[in-house]
Amino acid sequence: ILDIHNLSKSYGSAGKTLTVLDDVNFAIETGSSNAIVGPSGSGKTTLLGLCAGLDRSSGGSVTLNGINLNTLSEDKRAQVRNQFVGFIFQNFQLLPTLTALENVMVPLELRGERNIKARAMDLLDKVGLASRSHHYPTQLSGGEQQRVSIARAFSNQPKILFADEPTGNLDAETGERVQKLLFDLNQDAGTTLVVVTHDLELAGKTGRILRIKGGKLVSDEKTTA
Ligand code: ATP
Repeated sequence: ILDIHNLSKSYGSAGKTLTVLDDVNFAIETGSSNAIVGPSGSGKTTLLGLCAGLDRSSGGSVTLNGINLNTLSEDKRAQVRNQFVGFIFQNFQLLPTLTALENVMVPLELRGERNIKARAMDLLDKVGLASRSHHYPTQLSGGEQQRVSIARAFSNQPKILFADEPTGNLDAETGERVQKLLFDLNQDAGTTLVVVTHDLELAGKTGRILRIKGGKLVSDEKTTA
């Protein structure tokens, strides 16, 4: 479902560039679950953003579901994301002026769907937050905000879900709950999962661990999970 070819990314302009990703190559199978691990600052978040079409590479290509993202405008990439990509951000990225329910309704609205309020409510119920639907992000705990962001990421029934440190800010119990939501989606709906994590226990539950160091892919191993 995802093909990364000679991918590179640099920040900055002439004379003062920082190469964050350097000639990364891998492919992700439809329906698989995968972890990306590596030290802080090694380029994992950057890589995930490029894979999901949130940003554009400096070189090489990202082909998602047969679509070469490099050739697309920002608008077209946004369309691709709305259609079949879910993204869970490290810092949740909920819209502060909208309630939990409204945050989950946004992508449904963007897709022009019907019954969006009821569907968003169902999604919140799935992550155990039906009773918090009218709260604003600042009125929710970190774990609750993360679960709203998960409900939002599930809302377009994504073919592929990218999650950046989905359990990083959560206590053990909430982290377990979030992990279960992700793996249930992978197993029940066949959603391809790509998770960036520092949690090696979570990484070990996926089928494959890709390790990034200094912007390079340094190992790629199947797990026994
Ligand atoms: P962490 O585990 O700490 O989240 P990471 O592996 O996800 O780290 P990235 O967030 O991808 O790492 O960052 C890789 C490098 O790129 C870092 O040195 C960071 O400072 C730099 N970087 C990231 N985004 C930008 C940007 N927009 N402009 C300039 N430099 C950036």
